[in-house]
Amino acid sequence: MTELGKAHHLRSRAFGRAGIVGPLVLGLGFALVLAYQALAAAREHRAAAQATVRDHAEFAAYLLASRVERRLTRAMLYGFYPVELALGRNGRVLPGPATLRDSMELARCAAVVDPADRVFFRLDLGNGDLVVDGDADTDFRVWLVDSLAVHARSTYGEDWQFAHLFGPLRGERKPISYSVWRRGERNVVYGFDSCWRDGSGNVFDQVLGESGVLPPTLVGATPNDSLFTLSVLDTAGEPVYGQPAGSGGPFYGSTALRPPGTFEGLQLRVTLRPMAAEQLVIGGLPKSRLPVALGLVLLTATLMAVALAQLRRGQELVRLRERFIGNVSHELRTPLQQILLFVDLLRLQRVRSVEERNRALRVIDEEVRRLTVLVENILQFARSSKREASVSLQTVALRDVVEATVQSFHILAEAKDSTVEFTAGNGPTVQADPDAIRRIIVNLLDNAVKYGPSGQTVRVAVFQTDSRGCVAVEDEGPGIPLAERRKIWESFYRLEREERQVCTGSGIGLAIVRQLATEMGGGVHVEAGASGGARFVVWFPATHAEDAADTR
Ligand code: ADP
Repeated sequence: MTELGKAHHLRSRAFGRAGIVGPLVLGLGFALVLAYQALAAAREHRAAAQATVRDHAEFAAYLLASRVERRLTRAMLYGFYPVELALGRNGRVLPGPATLRDSMELARCAAVVDPADRVFFRLDLGNGDLVVDGDADTDFRVWLVDSLAVHARSTYGEDWQFAHLFGPLRGERKPISYSVWRRGERNVVYGFDSCWRDGSGNVFDQVLGESGVLPPTLVGATPNDSLFTLSVLDTAGEPVYGQPAGSGGPFYGSTALRPPGTFEGLQLRVTLRPMAAEQLVIGGLPKSRLPVALGLVLLTATLMAVALAQLRRGQELVRLRERFIGNVSHELRTPLQQILLFVDLLRLQRVRSVEERNRALRVIDEEVRRLTVLVENILQFARSSKREASVSLQTVALRDVVEATVQSFHILAEAKDSTVEFTAGNGPTVQADPDAIRRIIVNLLDNAVKYGPSGQTVRVAVFQTDSRGCVAVEDEGPGIPLAERRKIWESFYRLEREERQVCTGSGIGLAIVRQLATEMGGGVHVEAGASGGARFVVWFPATHAEDAADTR
């Protein structure tokens, strides 16, 4: 190929590769853009659905807060009512805190279960006079005089009737409820430790037990406590009732209990259970699309990798084929030139002696045989490419076929100064095609002579192992490196060293050997010979003894 031709060839190859790699990269790019868009759309859809679920939680919290406020307010009113009564009756005489306990015991009224364990107090804001009824420790008393009194003086107003504070009682943080009465100049506080209960029990359980607060069209008749949990948090976010903030799931809504003076910044929080969140969005909460998008990108990348591997393979095949055509042309041209040369010599009667004439004839004979081997190989290769059957099996005396082939090969061996030594035991009979056996042996001998040194002895042996008839061809050449022993059977494959030494060959000989042997139900392998050369062993299925007797 000229330099110009080579440049053109390389350019068209590069264009061919770009023509395939370009669309593949484009395809991957599209897959990435699509995956990104799908992810972005899914994220927006998910965010919208989650916002809807949170709105439901907020609304539920708003409704439930008013229920809690109503129940607690009622409970406190009932709780403080006896004080109001006593004050009204006696005018200036202040009833003791036990009034609260007695009335609670009598009426079992709101906020009042188990009054025996409770603490009731009266605190005169004017003179700081404190009367406590119940088991109260010093810490509690100090807290009443310091903190509660300050709270009552500074924040108590006309718009609210009682307040909740949290104070230390017997080592615990307890809600304390109180109310203030004005008698002339005196402001008197009555109060008790609260327990978030009304006459029917825990107010939070009570409000949950009332009618549903989420849309029945979405949640049906599912009871409130199966849909969400309730908690009450103080201003520091600490739970005074229920679970701590953050537990229970990501969908919650909060509302401050009102009026703020009464409930001192308490927040009612509704946390939806995961099952409820699914019910509140038609079709359920959208699932993450990330795995699908990643899968799509991964699949495209894998397909691209496979396509690129195929492209590389295809290009390698094209390269090998090109080299094959170059090698074959060379293999054909050399013997043809030799034949023409010696035919011309004979035709023009330029030979001076009988020896010279015989030598010319011998060269023509050798070259014709070499050409025959090559042409047979090419034809066989063409047949195998078209997947045509190329063997017809019969019972064959292996020894006879191999011996005849070796005999006919002597001329080619001598041309390379090689000797072929043939040994055979009691030759086995095999089920094979004699012509295919001959072509296998010729190829192996041709390689042995071609790659071995001149003056070598090539040993051919026929023997039997178990149910196989075997032929071994061993030379004294460089052998086949271990790493190459699997590859040499591939079409067009030639060892690197052959290219360097400009040793001609088509690269299809061993592919044909293996193909013919396998077609006949046999096989072939290569190993290192005794002298370090290559030892090819080809085997065929042996026939039974009776079959063998028939062929003799
Ligand atoms: P080729 O036409 O190149 O001989 P083959 O398919 O017959 O093609 O052989 C493939 C390659 O295996 C050869 O190029 C050569 O490198 C190696 N090979 C085959 N036979 C021998 C041998 N007897 N000794 C050393 N190398 C061999």
